Amino acid sequence: MDKTILSLVGIKKDYKLGNNDLVHALKGVSINFRENEFVAILGPSGCGKTTLLNIIGGLDKYTDGDLIISGVSTKTYKDRQWDVYRNHRIGFIFQSYNLIPHQTVLENVELALTIAGLSKKERQEKAREVIDRVGLKGLYNKRPNQLSGGQCQRVAIARALVNEPEILLADEPTGALDTTTSTQIMDLIKEISSEKLVIMVTHNPDIANKYSTRIVNLLDGEIISDSNPLDSLSTIDNKQNDNWKAKMKFRTAFRLSLRNLLSKLRRTILVCIAGSIGIVGVSTVLAVSAGVHNYIDSIQDDMLSGNPITITENSIDLQSMLGESSTRQKLEILQENGYVKVNSIVESLIKRSQTMNSYAISNDITKEYVDYVKAMPKENYKAIKFDYGFDVSNNIYAGWKLNSTYDEDVMSISSIINMYTSVLEMTDFKDYASYITQVTDNIMMAPNNKDYIESQYDMLKGKVATKKDEVMLVVNKNRQLTDILLAELGYYSQDEFIQIIYKNTDNENYDENLDKEKFSYDELLNKELIYYPNDSIFTKNEGEYAEIRPFNYKAYKDDTFNNGLNLKIVGILQPKDDISYGCLQSGLYYTEELSEYMKDINYESEITTYYKDKDISTITSGEYEMSGYKVQTGVTYKYKYYFNEVEYDNVTGYLGKVSAFDSIYGMISSMISGLSGISTGKDSNSKIYQITLRQLGGENIANSIYIYPNNFEDKYLVTSYLDKWNEEAEVDENKSIVKYNDNLEIIISLINNMIDMITYALIAFTALSLLVSTVMIGIITYVSVVERVKEIGVIRSLGGRKRDVSHLFNAETFIIGLVSGILGILITMLFALIINIIIGYVADINTIAIVRVNDAAIMIGVSIILTLISGLIPAQSAAKKDPVVALRTE
Ligand code: ADP
Ligand code: MG
Repeated sequence: MDKTILSLVGIKKDYKLGNNDLVHALKGVSINFRENEFVAILGPSGCGKTTLLNIIGGLDKYTDGDLIISGVSTKTYKDRQWDVYRNHRIGFIFQSYNLIPHQTVLENVELALTIAGLSKKERQEKAREVIDRVGLKGLYNKRPNQLSGGQCQRVAIARALVNEPEILLADEPTGALDTTTSTQIMDLIKEISSEKLVIMVTHNPDIANKYSTRIVNLLDGEIISDSNPLDSLSTIDNKQNDNWKAKMKFRTAFRLSLRNLLSKLRRTILVCIAGSIGIVGVSTVLAVSAGVHNYIDSIQDDMLSGNPITITENSIDLQSMLGESSTRQKLEILQENGYVKVNSIVESLIKRSQTMNSYAISNDITKEYVDYVKAMPKENYKAIKFDYGFDVSNNIYAGWKLNSTYDEDVMSISSIINMYTSVLEMTDFKDYASYITQVTDNIMMAPNNKDYIESQYDMLKGKVATKKDEVMLVVNKNRQLTDILLAELGYYSQDEFIQIIYKNTDNENYDENLDKEKFSYDELLNKELIYYPNDSIFTKNEGEYAEIRPFNYKAYKDDTFNNGLNLKIVGILQPKDDISYGCLQSGLYYTEELSEYMKDINYESEITTYYKDKDISTITSGEYEMSGYKVQTGVTYKYKYYFNEVEYDNVTGYLGKVSAFDSIYGMISSMISGLSGISTGKDSNSKIYQITLRQLGGENIANSIYIYPNNFEDKYLVTSYLDKWNEEAEVDENKSIVKYNDNLEIIISLINNMIDMITYALIAFTALSLLVSTVMIGIITYVSVVERVKEIGVIRSLGGRKRDVSHLFNAETFIIGLVSGILGILITMLFALIINIIIGYVADINTIAIVRVNDAAIMIGVSIILTLISGLIPAQSAAKKDPVVALRTE
């Protein structure tokens, strides 16, 4: 008694048409199949043969009735069970082969095993075996388009057999083949049918008669005859095993998609280039932004050494000035009919000057405060400089010559400056001569940290000055010193100095031999400079003008000078290559030791005592008005000079202008009238006297403090220490708040904010192109779905899940996203290289575009995510595709 493996019980299938009409493709088909027979289903086109086969194969769902597989009803079958059924028990052969074109013969055959989750080795072994069996030995790595139709059908048969199914379904397998090939294929199928149930659809009665063991005639969705019906209801045991799998690994989907993309290489490349444009845009902006931030980070330590934290008696609060200007509001002016309102310029000027004055910082630097700063932990900073406001040019004397025939005179630096000013006043430059004194702030105190200086400066010769009798010369980055500095230190003879003027005015007296364009290190080092205390150089004036000129000042060194300190120039320093600012500018630097020595020796001197004791309110107006803003210390001196071969000797009547308030202070006070009250009345004179007193050494509390933090990051150690004083001052009325200037912080944060703003704006802008490429990739994925409809059908017919299909397209977009991202980063790196080369040329900055690893990883991630999102909808639509429709599509 034959057992039945498959039973169809009153199977009906209706197709809904677009206009809601029903097509009754099958009208109640009942039939039992034996475990091993060759059934031919015969019938005219359109009678429902394919539909019947698809329902038997679990590819299509029946509308009514039941399909009983090994005695199990399929009425309650889940998608997963159908998938397993197709994958493990059914082999499909189609009229149009339905091979995947971008895969090799071996891969096509392997596909069912791949979905079943077999290992690569097992897969290949089994696939080779069946390929050999269908007579295609050696053609494993051929592509379908390299094979004939018969060979393709053999591959399809191999694919159907590879999973060792119990049932082979063939839908007009020879429909597209010539007679000879048809015979060969039919012989093969016949051979297979000896051990399986083969159900073959054909409209060719000859083939049916020749090969099959049973012929079923179908007409209009109904069986009209069956040559060997089976009525037995005894079924074979159910073999379907719950451990059977039917799903594709994501890795497989990935490999299939990679194959597909590679088979359309040119298009894939174009898509990836297009996809990378947005990534290039955004990551280039990020690279430049990172590079600029990095550049600022790299120079900020250097900038800091040139812009230390400063505490001065008078300065401008840059922070609140910048802060307020950005929040200034516009006033709403109400208009009134019939009236014209007054727009008060006076009012606005008053307001402006009031706000300007509010920016003025006036600090009371007390001894307590200085002690507090001195008590700051040493590890918080590199160096501190306490500046007392001394004018050393009055006290330092340098040897110089009128010309080669004269002996050397030793004259104070301030009088050398005055002398050269007088010389320049004889030339066409007389209007500018006085500027000389304003650019001669060339002799300064160095911060007291040798290591700090050595970290920023190369020793051209000698060493860093550390003792009180040591000074050093600092040249600029181009290894230059100014002519003014060299002149005031007496390196030029007057004869030589005048050549600079002659040369630049094409004067006929220009003498090339006297034109000094360079000085050797030895020449510079072997210069005699002597420091004399106040009591040697200022003598009390007992004469006629004692009242308005209480002291005489000696421009030339004479026998009465004593207590001189020989200053040795011990080193010539040049900023290192990577230093743009540095803690020292070009000029002559003395040590903190000398500063302390000067303070000690001059504080009690005759002249400072005189001014300290003087009651400013008693000073008559004549006393200060004689020299305008220059304080009259009441000294006269004589000096000679030499011009156009005429010697001007013993010129009298020139008043020695020993002290002048410093030019920067003058500039600030002209901007802010309220800063010091300098422009009006007695106050201004008291201020000038105060400054004079400082310049003479009559103050022993610093009026400026410069603090050099370790680096930009550590700067807060200093500022928070200084803030602590102010916190205490809030509650302690014996202390007053001291505002410090941290200008670099303001500048750097201003720059950083600006860069960030520009970066965001540019990213927003370039993100548009990212959006465009995302949409484009969505479209391309959709096109790919349309192209791969057949493949979708095949995978589904082999038992692949819906999710396997969506994985396939997600893998494709993933690959495109990844490649686009990497390509984008590579192009960005190339751009960065080009930008850096160009910037290097133009601005002498090494790197201004840096592709950071983080940014690169994020941008590749963004690229992947965006393309995945763009491919999500097409992938979903692919997954939902009905396999029957997919396979019917030609
Ligand atoms: P055969 O394979 O015998 O040529 P089919 O099984 O392909 O016939 O078709 C049977 C009937 O069902 C035909 O009338 C056909 O037009 C209709 N049909 C098949 N598939 C669909 C479908 N997806 N939608 C609507 N009608 C269909
Ligand atoms: Mg058909």
